[in-house]
Amino acid sequence: MNSRRLDSYYKPGVLGLSFEVYPPKNANSTQALYRVVEELCRWKPAFISVTYGAGGSTRSQSLELLSELKKRMTVPLTAHFTCVGSTIEEIESWLSGAQALGVENIMALRGDPPQGQEKFVSTVGGLGHANELVQLIQTKFARFGVGVAGYPEPHREALSPEDDLKRLKTKVDSGAHAVFTQLFYRNEDFFRFRERYEALGVEAPLVPGILPVLSLEQLKRITKLCGASIPPELLTRLEACKGDGPAQIQVGIDYATEQCEGLIREGVPGIHFYVLNRSDIIDKILTRLGIKPT
Ligand SMILES: Cc1cc2nc3c(=O)[nH]c(=O)nc-3n(C[C@H](O)[C@H](O)[C@H](O)COP(=O)(O)OP(=O)(O)OC[C@H]3O[C@@H](n4cnc5c(N)ncnc54)[C@H](O)[C@@H]3O)c2cc1C
Repeated sequence: MNSRRLDSYYKPGVLGLSFEVYPPKNANSTQALYRVVEELCRWKPAFISVTYGAGGSTRSQSLELLSELKKRMTVPLTAHFTCVGSTIEEIESWLSGAQALGVENIMALRGDPPQGQEKFVSTVGGLGHANELVQLIQTKFARFGVGVAGYPEPHREALSPEDDLKRLKTKVDSGAHAVFTQLFYRNEDFFRFRERYEALGVEAPLVPGILPVLSLEQLKRITKLCGASIPPELLTRLEACKGDGPAQIQVGIDYATEQCEGLIREGVPGIHFYVLNRSDIIDKILTRLGIKPT
């Protein structure tokens, strides 16, 4: 019996907030990350999640970081984990480690091909897709809550939007408790995706992922990496303040706030913020949305 199902965080009438941060790159940013997490906890999120770096080299470092965060956090911790570069034995060993630390949830992902590699190739003795990771967790580590990734604009390797959605349903049928979407900048894409998701009869909460833009350059880089589209309106607003960093951040805050308002109006169960370790920006957006910290 799973006592910590991730879907239990989403209740009618309550907006389940979650915040995704990334591991620090050096000692200075480690201290900064601890402060960011402390700040984010003030919003009493459903959970804070920590991404898993590409490639297997981060396996042991990520457990060290999770251990430190667990000591400092007052809300549940979700650890992202990918199948990249790990055998099943290594995956199980990492999951045992995370379980021993008291990590509540796993964001179960396949991961991207390592840098310089065009196509994803499974590690010999490893797993090929996220649904297999979900299944493994459900079989051997059933106390974890499990989240998976969904794509309002289909995943770049998807055979078709229909096939991508069918694969997502398989992840939920394998035992995932909630779906967190890739970032998107047109709410219509999310709403169309949600309609098709619901039409397939998938019942796990579908939580939109929002990444507040920090600059035009960053927007172009990130959308190129993940395949999300940039709406002309957002591009125009950012181009109007080219070269002015603070003004571009303000556009990002305004745009993310407008996106969240539209999503909340349409009854989303929660919002998953890609924080990029900038709690100050999240503070501004949530304040504008009329949400109060504790
Ligand atoms: C919320 C969120 C968090 C993320 N966090 C991280 C992170 O921490 N670290 C990181 O490296 N990356 C992260 N990613 C990126 C993610 O790893 C990539 O998008 C990756 O390319 C796909 O991962 P997936 O789990 O969606 O894979 P899958 O669900 O396996 O899907 C990958 C592709 O294969 C297809 N497919 C799925 N299942 C099958 C199957 N059984 N047989 C055949 N085809 C199939 C799908 O249609 C899709 O095109 C995150 C993405 C999201 C949305």
